[in-house]
Amino acid sequence: RELPGDPETGARRREVVGAAWSAVMPTPVAAPRLLAHSPEVAALLGFDPATVASQEFAEVFGGNALYAGMQPWAANYGGHQFGHWAGQLGDGRAISLGELLANGQRWELQLKGAGPTPYSRGADGRAVLRSSLREFLCSEAMHHLGVPTTRALSLVGTGETVVRDMFYDGHPQAEPGAVVCRVAPSFIRFGSFELPSARGDVGLLRQLVEFCIARDFPELQGSGEALYAQWFAQVCTRTAVMVAHWMRVGFVHGVMNTDNLSILGLTLDYGPYGWVEDYDPDWTPNTTDAQGRRYRFGTQMQVAYWNLVRLAQALSPLFAEVAPLQAGLDAFRDRYAAQERADLVAKLGLGEFREGDAELMAQFQQLLQDGEMDMTLAFRALAEVDSAAPDVAPLEEAFYTADGRERVLPALTDWLQRHAARVRASGQAPQARRAVMQAANPRYVLRNWLAQQAIDRAEQGDLAGIAELLEVMRHPYDEQPGREAFAGKRPEWARERAGCSMLSCSS
Ligand code: AMP
Ligand code: MG
Ligand code: MG
Repeated sequence: RELPGDPETGARRREVVGAAWSAVMPTPVAAPRLLAHSPEVAALLGFDPATVASQEFAEVFGGNALYAGMQPWAANYGGHQFGHWAGQLGDGRAISLGELLANGQRWELQLKGAGPTPYSRGADGRAVLRSSLREFLCSEAMHHLGVPTTRALSLVGTGETVVRDMFYDGHPQAEPGAVVCRVAPSFIRFGSFELPSARGDVGLLRQLVEFCIARDFPELQGSGEALYAQWFAQVCTRTAVMVAHWMRVGFVHGVMNTDNLSILGLTLDYGPYGWVEDYDPDWTPNTTDAQGRRYRFGTQMQVAYWNLVRLAQALSPLFAEVAPLQAGLDAFRDRYAAQERADLVAKLGLGEFREGDAELMAQFQQLLQDGEMDMTLAFRALAEVDSAAPDVAPLEEAFYTADGRERVLPALTDWLQRHAARVRASGQAPQARRAVMQAANPRYVLRNWLAQQAIDRAEQGDLAGIAELLEVMRHPYDEQPGREAFAGKRPEWARERAGCSMLSCSS
């Protein structure tokens, strides 16, 4: 259904009712060229290196050609954005090429930035190299950190430019365009269910729920309401696990709108995400959210819960009573609390959870904040503190300022003593404890300024920075001699530089 154009821009808008998707073809680009790919994802999908290196591969994953059997579509969904119902959104710049069965698994292959769809709302359906590169790298970095996430197969340069404003200096700017191929069992979002529900289309809502369960949750048994209840609880617990991982590694999603939350509990839609550096639970990387500060690091659990409540409301027409939905929400809280405890024990090397451990963690986090310490470096360094003779030396590199160091030094020294006593009381062998801590506290995370350096080089035609960064991020928990620069805290030049700390939505 065609709607009147936007009064300000004149952009056409289309309402797609009674359907969960629309058939749509990618729009060809001038000169597709493979800029980067993930060898692991290629292998997962059964693409051999020669295929990946072929021009045909770049044509397909740039949107200029299809492999036999591909039948592209764009999904229809709505969402709550920044706390408000936004109506129909849909894949405005994502086009799925099809599903691929490989090695006994089923994967959906989806291009992002492949041109307009019925859901583009007048926008161009394109993506710039910098945001595509960020999504490509972070998808893979998160996977290797052990965080549930969509994957990325390829990054293809389009040979075309895309005009974007509001980033570097507020003026429109032509930037190189790119297309990422994302890979996941499904890209269905909370908002996929919210839209038919908001429209009162219970038939479509039920059909989509049945489809999602049958395809993506085959292990669930039963039927009707009992089945839906189990499924919702699964969605809740998977979301809890995902967010707990984000908190463990210092990841801030930045745009936790319900249209960006995966029904599979996968980290989805990498936009203005960021990594906590000098520890601050109130930090958000999203400049669009600078006022509301809705999507801060420390509020991600609460926002995930809020989003699950929106999903529960959307599903409520399928339930006679709210109790099963409430049970799912309770399962979220329980699972999150359990995960948070397990992560706390591993991150601090405590062996098992005991009374007082949560306070020990809270005190350490407060010290990180008061002392302006780098979250990743500080936690990683804890494993190096000798519990027989605790000393602050391993944590020295985590301080951003001399002032911060001075402010917390006595309290930190005291905390390290108490931590060491707690560690000794756990009776763990030092080497085993160190290994557990190192497996919970990454050495390498995809700090925004690292990605930005790879972007700067790529925009100058030097692609080596992408492959290099991808390689480092493949082993985030290992010490990588010679690659210490990738583990360093944010350099001074990156503090205010666009792209290195704060980013905006939808570029
Ligand atoms: P995001 O904030 O990136 O999750 O996007 C929110 C909505 O805007 C989604 O429906 C996107 O598909 C759509 N969107 C974002 N950027 C574009 C674009 N350049 N062209 C068309 N649709 C877009
Ligand atoms: Mg999105
Ligand atoms: Mg996006």
